Amino acid sequence: MKPDNDSLYRFVVEGCNVRGQLVYLDKSWQELASRHDYPPVVRTILGEAVSAAALLSATIKFDGALSIQASGDGGLRLLIAEATANGTLRGLARWKGELQGARLAELLGNGRLAITIDPGKGRERYQGIIELQGSGLSQSLRSYFSQSEQLPTRLWLAVEERRIAGLLLQRIPEAVHENSWLDPGKATGDAWRQSVEHANAINPRDLLELDVADLLARINGARPVRLYRGEDWRFLCSCSREKVTEVLRALGRDDLDSLIEERKQVSVSCEFCNADFSFDAVDVAQVFAADQHDLQPTRH
Ligand SMILES: [Zn+2]
Repeated sequence: MKPDNDSLYRFVVEGCNVRGQLVYLDKSWQELASRHDYPPVVRTILGEAVSAAALLSATIKFDGALSIQASGDGGLRLLIAEATANGTLRGLARWKGELQGARLAELLGNGRLAITIDPGKGRERYQGIIELQGSGLSQSLRSYFSQSEQLPTRLWLAVEERRIAGLLLQRIPEAVHENSWLDPGKATGDAWRQSVEHANAINPRDLLELDVADLLARINGARPVRLYRGEDWRFLCSCSREKVTEVLRALGRDDLDSLIEERKQVSVSCEFCNADFSFDAVDVAQVFAADQHDLQPTRH
């Protein structure tokens, strides 16, 4: 079975303590990456972050958004990948000057990596700061799962121009095993260790291209696997004229008026999707007219 485009699959290895997810991003990735002319090394890191964000968001039940964000003083200044519970993805990277190395820690220099979960509906955001591990994003994320005392989790990420893919394996608490009277700890512990070893041996091209059933057989050997079709993904930015209006309002009337005087209009462009929002003198007046309206006494 060829994997569908822009899709996620979940699987459970029967009778074992291993479960996982596979994500394939095609059109969503192409649209996201086409917004800026990324150098190949930046594009690769961005692709890894985007597939990791999709995988991580699919491990939790929530209504909001999960983002992976990195910033540093190296050639790679900023990296953001965001996945929402509605199956939308967006992301961007900013870079400057010469890029050193290819791994995340090298590119970022003195940097930090954070995972933010915004559960939506006004609930409190959670942020985990991760120590950058020299060998790349998936290794750094592995330490995120152990730091935050979550289930042991490993990720494998593959990026090419038109498709990105990711595999997540998670060790769940001991399964009740048909043959558990034999030696349950050993049986399930071995399954986890073997699946991780097998996944380590899979090259990125196979992760991108193999049939789902073949890939799962390579990872889990002869163990039976239950496979579920999960979410579809698409590129969609959550920016809006209303949100830009909020930002402009926070700048204050005086600053905006002087900008308008100087340039006739204020333009704000969204870095995620390149959408442009322009405000002329009349628009700016309206931004603040709404404020005055709010200040009017209300009758009860
Ligand atoms: Zn946007």
